[in-house]
Amino acid sequence: MPFSHLGLDKPLLRAIAEQGYSAPTPIQSQAIPAVLAGRDLLAAAQTGTGKTAAFTLPLLQRLLEFSRTGERTRPGRAPRVLVLVPTRELAAQVNDSVRAYGQFTDLRAAVVFGGVGLQPQIDALRRGIDLLIATPGRLLDLVGQGHARLKEVDVLVLDEADRMLDMGFIRDIKRILPLLPKVRQNLLFSATFSREIRELAAGILRNPLSVEVAPPNTTADRVQQCIYQVAKDCKQPLLAHLIETGGWGQTLVFTRTKHGANKLAQQLERGGFTVGVIHGNKSQSARTRALADFKEYRIQVLVATDIAARGLDIRELPHVVNYELPDVPADYVHRIGRTGRAGAGGEAISLVSGEEATQLRDIERLLKRKLPVRETPAGIQPLPRSAEPAPAHRPPPRRGQPPAGRGGQQRSRRPSQGPRRGAL
Ligand code: AMP
Repeated sequence: MPFSHLGLDKPLLRAIAEQGYSAPTPIQSQAIPAVLAGRDLLAAAQTGTGKTAAFTLPLLQRLLEFSRTGERTRPGRAPRVLVLVPTRELAAQVNDSVRAYGQFTDLRAAVVFGGVGLQPQIDALRRGIDLLIATPGRLLDLVGQGHARLKEVDVLVLDEADRMLDMGFIRDIKRILPLLPKVRQNLLFSATFSREIRELAAGILRNPLSVEVAPPNTTADRVQQCIYQVAKDCKQPLLAHLIETGGWGQTLVFTRTKHGANKLAQQLERGGFTVGVIHGNKSQSARTRALADFKEYRIQVLVATDIAARGLDIRELPHVVNYELPDVPADYVHRIGRTGRAGAGGEAISLVSGEEATQLRDIERLLKRKLPVRETPAGIQPLPRSAEPAPAHRPPPRRGQPPAGRGGQQRSRRPSQGPRRGAL
């Protein structure tokens, strides 16, 4: 069914056309009519399925209908739609989507999250908004200080609910719920459905429509998965070798810990790569900058921890590397869900040391298959213990590339592996 048959007004259809979307994704065709009809929704969908538009478009439509009655135009109005998200990055991304889809309307949205100054957020709330996107902690701060009123919320969206629970937001969510009107519409999106999520959903949703869509790009035919069995000390030289000899462009590398992410980033930088890092201890501005640099091809390698990377709009990358396997097998699936360019596939490569046998077994159990092992190239030597990579281990610069150095022009060049459009 085309977008024009889903009951959306012209300003929204125009914005959709401007985004270049030709047809709704499966989650959108199912969710949009249900949300417009006021139904609660339990959606199993992860990033990459078009889930943001699946709730944003019908909610903007409902807000347009409210505003037509005139009651929504007064300044200082309290939000009618509240979208709770686990991370600052996801908050910013949902906000970008709301702005894009609502660009031809006069609806107002605001986004509030921690790690940045309160005052601009207070000012935005004071001006009056229709839709509020928030991380739970900052929302509670703003409510506590009397800056956010939630008594007019008609619709609550919990986006990436599984991650909210993983990140320990359940208490905050339980403190927010009583601040909302009892009668309201509720939409819950989650990539996975653990017992905890089901319990949360049961406590919030009324007679929900359940919608499930397949995760994007995780099927074996689109993403080639393989492992290298390699000693811990040899992982960094192997990674550098693979990036260099494979001529990899944008490469997303996952580590298990923040410390591991920092250390690897430093080692790669010393080896001449342009590198960004995203993890929970990085300031908001540093994370935003790293992500923007990666998306704009100014850096070649982005090193990330699971929590920081979850929900980021980074997809369709040719190469995702698990520098360390995650402890939670489902995180492996989330990580590699970012691989695979449209129609062209991609590679998800895991560097597995002897200490990670248990994690590998659990992942293979979840995938119900063994991951093929690739032979480690000869000559991969561990880094010297002093941590300074010896020049001999540094991969030679490729033809036409400058030698080592931060921000080398050639490295920041658009990688050759795929079309720029849709590459993230
Ligand atoms: P999401 O799953 O919400 O993170 O969105 C995934 C990506 O799909 C975003 O970059 C959207 O811009 C894009 N997208 C959303 N809906 C559509 C659509 N109907 N057709 C093509 N791309 C879409």
